[in-house]
Amino acid sequence: MRYLNYINGLWKEPTSREYKENLSPHNGENLGEFPSSVAADLHDAVAAGKRSFPAWKKLSFQQRASYLQKAADHLKKNVQEIGQDLIKEEGKPLAEGMGEVNRAVSILEYYAAEARQPLGEVIPSANAETFLYTTRTPLGLVGLITPWNFPIAIPVWKLAPALIYGNTVVIKPADLTPKSVYHVMKAFDEAGLPAGVLNCVFGKGSVIGAEMVEHPDIKAISFTGSNQVGIQIQNRATTANGKKVQLEMGGKNPLIVLSDADVDKAVEIAVGGAFKSTGQKCTATSRIIVEEGIYEVFRDRLVNRTKELKVGNPLDGDTFVGPAVSKTQCDGVIKMIEVGKEEATLLCGGEAPSEEELANGFYVKPTVFENVSHDARLAREEIFGPVIALFKVKNYEEAVEMANDTEYGLSAAICTNNLTLAQRFIEDIEVGLVHVNSETAGTEPQVPFGGCKSSSTGSREQGKTAIEFYTQVKTIYLDRM
Ligand code: NAD
Repeated sequence: MRYLNYINGLWKEPTSREYKENLSPHNGENLGEFPSSVAADLHDAVAAGKRSFPAWKKLSFQQRASYLQKAADHLKKNVQEIGQDLIKEEGKPLAEGMGEVNRAVSILEYYAAEARQPLGEVIPSANAETFLYTTRTPLGLVGLITPWNFPIAIPVWKLAPALIYGNTVVIKPADLTPKSVYHVMKAFDEAGLPAGVLNCVFGKGSVIGAEMVEHPDIKAISFTGSNQVGIQIQNRATTANGKKVQLEMGGKNPLIVLSDADVDKAVEIAVGGAFKSTGQKCTATSRIIVEEGIYEVFRDRLVNRTKELKVGNPLDGDTFVGPAVSKTQCDGVIKMIEVGKEEATLLCGGEAPSEEELANGFYVKPTVFENVSHDARLAREEIFGPVIALFKVKNYEEAVEMANDTEYGLSAAICTNNLTLAQRFIEDIEVGLVHVNSETAGTEPQVPFGGCKSSSTGSREQGKTAIEFYTQVKTIYLDRM
């Protein structure tokens, strides 16, 4: 089946008339054909978004919220079909795929409820006659560039706040996972969203994404993806075009396990954080730093537990680790594992599974390494696959120093019963997201999300903080004549 761009409230063929097959990472099944759009398609979408902005901005918050709520209702009603499509194209296991669609529903409902929240502040003026207050105004047309690893949740956590605060949107989804975003467009189309308020152009990042960054009618870019692309976007969008830019990028997230931790719980936290979604989360655990008193016991249980995890078809209910999203991604992970075999000790995994039914998929067994030096590539580079590097340290001080010894600063976790050290960790660790006795991955939509150092720039996403990016403050001095 052929899918089309969503521009000005219509499903439109790409000007090129060219399409790209969307293939399942599990078995290569063709899941549909999606437009290989060109600059002219983006220009159409930008014109529609620009045209629709004045009327959309004038609607009340409650009116805008009604469209978000209707789109949420559509996703909720069709969660089975949409979840299955997401799983087939991205490869994450059943519970996680269905969970992601439900999460998109929560995000839409959260931002629909923003319609009842205060927008500014009243501040006493120096002048008794003056009513002094602030309000927020939308930016205009915003551009969203999104990755493949949360193909519904990330687009929705960007477009929901953009729309509720009165902006119009053009989105360019990752070309590996277009069907998930197609479902989001369909939800808004069914909701009767006014034409042009939300537009989607499918295609390559180097063509459509790059054009978005350059287009003068797009006032802001919210990007999630790799550091390499993010930095390019920032340089072009801010220096050449004066756009507002928000970047959410990579991570090398540490989990510290102290000697007093419950070993079985710590192992579950480690396995969940590192191997869910095949390790393809920006917040996935990739370094586990263990105090020496517990190291051997923890390592052995971690390795045994890792060997038990079912690698397989993501649609099977008992699969823990699905395929990597693409051949390129899978090859990159295998390449890093080969590097790891040279520079550290492989404890388990390190290869593709041998089952015949997985032979056409992009599978890698969950992998654990030890004896990793702090300057090894395994210790420093984001792998974005099911690979753990284990480190043994003398004490908390050495653990936190090692945890902070990275260019990234997205998420970190600690397993301990020691309240004093947990509190010190919260202060000492250089990240945007801190977990005490839970996985490094895992976010709730009502709180800010984002990191520090090379992981993020610009204001945080999600929760009330999203208003910082999608609006600007207006200060009003209201006086009598
Ligand atoms: P990517 O950078 O390759 O692509 C991200 C998006 O940018 C895609 O839509 C892509 O088509 C587009 N793009 C590519 N080249 C472009 C260009 N020249 N101009 C404009 N747009 C362009 O990333 P990916 O492989 O899709 O995702 C994996 C990366 O995303 C990992 O590094 C991961 O850590 C990161 N990520 C971060 C977060 C976070 O919130 N911090 C969340 C998920 C993923």
